[in-house]
Amino acid sequence: MDRSNLIKPMLDAQYPVIDYGRGVYLYDTDGKEYLDASSGAITANIGHGVEEIIEAMHEQAKKVSFVYRSQFTSGAAEKLALKIAEAASGDLNWSFFVNSGSEATETAMKIAIQYWQEKGILTKTKVLSRWMSYHGITLGALSMSGHTGRRARFIPLLEDFPVVHPPYCYRCPYNLEPTDCGYLCAHELETVIKRIGADNIAAFIAEPVIGAAGGAITPPKDYYRIIKEICDRNDILFIADEVMTGFGRTGTMLACEQWNVKPDIVALGKGMGAGYAPIAAALVSDEIMEPIFSGSKSIMSGHTLSANPQSCAVSLAVLEYIEKNNIIPEVDSKGVYLKNKLIKLQSKFTFIGDVRGKGLMLGLEFVKDHLTKQPFSSRFGLTQRLIQGAQEQGLLIYPAGAGTVGTDGDAVLIAPPLTITKRE
Ligand code: PLP
Repeated sequence: MDRSNLIKPMLDAQYPVIDYGRGVYLYDTDGKEYLDASSGAITANIGHGVEEIIEAMHEQAKKVSFVYRSQFTSGAAEKLALKIAEAASGDLNWSFFVNSGSEATETAMKIAIQYWQEKGILTKTKVLSRWMSYHGITLGALSMSGHTGRRARFIPLLEDFPVVHPPYCYRCPYNLEPTDCGYLCAHELETVIKRIGADNIAAFIAEPVIGAAGGAITPPKDYYRIIKEICDRNDILFIADEVMTGFGRTGTMLACEQWNVKPDIVALGKGMGAGYAPIAAALVSDEIMEPIFSGSKSIMSGHTLSANPQSCAVSLAVLEYIEKNNIIPEVDSKGVYLKNKLIKLQSKFTFIGDVRGKGLMLGLEFVKDHLTKQPFSSRFGLTQRLIQGAQEQGLLIYPAGAGTVGTDGDAVLIAPPLTITKRE
């Protein structure tokens, strides 16, 4: 294209123009094929060009594309909320639909604060979070995000919500091994709560598996059990940010199920619409809704396009497609297969320091020296070249890393559509 009026992520870069997508592949206007091994931004969970979803969009568009949520509800939104309540474990029975993951985490934060207000506790307004996390780009979501790179320009506008270290075993903040660390990084939360005062804290938010800010950093077995116990003991809600991990990405509908941990509120996004339409949600438990039902009876948030029928119809079709094709139960074995291949690569290339992740959310961390784990010195040094090189050869992978704890972004996510076959 000779002239473009579109603001793109890198203003001076040339982006290939994608013409169409089929399954795990994208095709640009020059006919070049790309294997979408990152599902875009870990979003295209059922692959591209799925007929059933296109049909569902068409059917809904023929009926009605937009109704305003303060005036009407729609069959698509009602059915989706019911289906999600059935698919999610426990009593996460209430869906508040929004349009992006950032809106979902901000909505979750607001619901947590409102919950305490409805109970007459007005001081609980802070949300604690971890360093090396990403909860979204809007100011509330960015306040919760411990991604130093994305916070930097807006520091004066942000709250200091990130307060504890992540469970980053490859570079343990305490220099301990997972076998004998005593889960210090989880217990650190209680130390911080004591300092800030539980009376001031509404909730703690965390990504079950850390995505963009770390590259599939997966906690050891008891981490979330301890975190939830600390939250319960201190009357602090636990918000699971499952924007990336939810909808089957790690092998269960919600990643938290794998540790038997029941969040009070869950943020969903990305895989919910699988890239076919913008849709996300704050999923809320009965217990958290109860004082709101018996109190003000209204959640003080919402967007013009919240619960948009077109987006809800897409998400409903995505969930039905996932169930009909038995996609989630196969994620674990596909993930193990792919991870073993990556571990083989690691034994060949010493710059691959760590291979990690859960289900089909896998990460590689690159190091200059795998014995000392010395990171590459320039920001995005190797990673950016590797991602570009892979794209030139028709393979799409996703950059990760928060610019903290020394890694400076030298990690990538490998997270293909959940529908990928072993041969692909
Ligand atoms: N939460 C997590 C865990 C994410 O990975 C992201 C996006 O990468 C977000 C929130 C923000 O979602 P969105 O980009 O749809 O606003």
